[in-house]
Amino acid sequence: MPVFLCTACGSEFPPAAQTPAHCPICEDARQYVPAAGQGWTTQERLAAGHANSFRQHAPGFFAIRTVPAFAIDQRAFLVPHPEGGFLLWDCLALLDAATIALIRALGGLRGIAISHPHYYTSCVSWSRAFDDAPVYLHAADREWVMRPDPCQVFWEGETRMIADGLTLIRAGGHFPGGTVLHWAGGAAGQGALLSGDIAQVVADRRSVSFMRSYPNLIPLAAPMVRRIAARLEPFAFAAVYGAFAGREILDDGKGAVMRSVARYLDALAGDDSDR
Ligand SMILES: [Zn+2]
Ligand SMILES: [Zn+2]
Repeated sequence: MPVFLCTACGSEFPPAAQTPAHCPICEDARQYVPAAGQGWTTQERLAAGHANSFRQHAPGFFAIRTVPAFAIDQRAFLVPHPEGGFLLWDCLALLDAATIALIRALGGLRGIAISHPHYYTSCVSWSRAFDDAPVYLHAADREWVMRPDPCQVFWEGETRMIADGLTLIRAGGHFPGGTVLHWAGGAAGQGALLSGDIAQVVADRRSVSFMRSYPNLIPLAAPMVRRIAARLEPFAFAAVYGAFAGREILDDGKGAVMRSVARYLDALAGDDSDR
């Protein structure tokens, strides 16, 4: 039976003879159902018109993105794992034969960790293609898993070190289980933060911002943004890699995040003086 993928968010659903009746991820206020209605595809159909492209950001550190753009158009990252191969950070809907062959040739996947449900996408298919690699998801977002599977490891609490120098931090915000990855060896040993949609690197590439819904422009409440700052405070990082192509801060990343938090809180607290 086919595994159907939602064309608006890229989520895969359990094998079924018929397309799903609807997509709960897209019907949630943080996403949307396209004007033309919910659409469905399969890996085979998707691969017929799309491929994954790879970009090296540092030796052994790659971003992967589907071209032409598909669904939310996020990127995923291959982060070097201390025991060899990679941790896949975030995920993509498309998993084609070239992607499997290339990643295998580079050492394979030791695990998959995903920031929040918009990027859960085809994580079960990815795990199966890479020796049942564990998929780390925060337990607070479990209700948004569209294709439950034993590969998923639901972690709890505020941090989880999944390997030496690779720490998941539950920052919350955009989703209750919203997670970022701290990579101590990133940015030539100064530390890197892979921030997904949780701290969104914005167009100036010098700051981040925070939203409950990006497409529907619902801001995040001030206490949640203060909490994100508090959860990141113990970690050092020079670089921040956001969810979308070209969105990275390569210098003084932590300063940039903390200044962005102050700017955001100022904006929300602003008066009516039209300044
Ligand atoms: Zn969807
Ligand atoms: Zn999102």
